[in-house]
Amino acid sequence: MVLAGLLLSAAVSVTWTDRLVEIEPFKTSITLNFVRAWPFVVWAVATVLLSSFVYKGYCRYLCPLGAGMGVLGKLRRWDWIARRSECGQPCQRCRSDCAYQAIDKRGTVDYDECFQCMDCVVIYENDSLCVPLILSNRHPTQIRVIPIQEVK
Ligand code: SF4
Ligand code: SF4
Repeated sequence: MVLAGLLLSAAVSVTWTDRLVEIEPFKTSITLNFVRAWPFVVWAVATVLLSSFVYKGYCRYLCPLGAGMGVLGKLRRWDWIARRSECGQPCQRCRSDCAYQAIDKRGTVDYDECFQCMDCVVIYENDSLCVPLILSNRHPTQIRVIPIQEVK
C-alpha cells in the first residue's frame, strides 16, 4: 500500500511525493541526526519504537523499497533455499531460528517473508548445526545418512 501510494503520488504531484517519501526515517535519523522539525523526529522515533517491539518492523511492513523488492521476488523461478526431507517433519530447528518467521511448520520457506539472511542456509550446510547431520555424526552406524533433497 505504501509503495502503491508513492507510485500514485509520483504520477500526480511531485510535492506530494516529496512529502510521502518521508515515510523512510533514515534521512531524519541518520543523515540529519534528528535535528529537524518535530513531526519528522516524532515519526523517526515512532519507527524506532516499532522496531523495538516488532523485529525489523519498518523494513518488513512499511519500507516501500522492500515492497518493491517483494514484488520483484514474485519473478523468482525456483526455490533456491535447499531443504531436507526432515525439515519440518520432525525438525523445527530452522523454523525456530528464523527471525522473520519465514519458515512454516512443514519446513517450507515462505519467500514473501524471507529476508534472505542466510541463517537457515548456514544451518543446513553445517554438520554441527543441522540436526540430522549432528545425529548421523554421533551415531554413524545406527542412523542412516538421510539424503539431501534437491533444490526445487
Ligand atoms: S536443522 Fe537441518 S533438518 Fe532441521 S530444519 Fe534446519 S536444515 Fe532442516
Ligand atoms: S534465509 Fe533467513 S529469513 Fe529466509 S527463511 Fe532462511 S532464516 Fe528465514
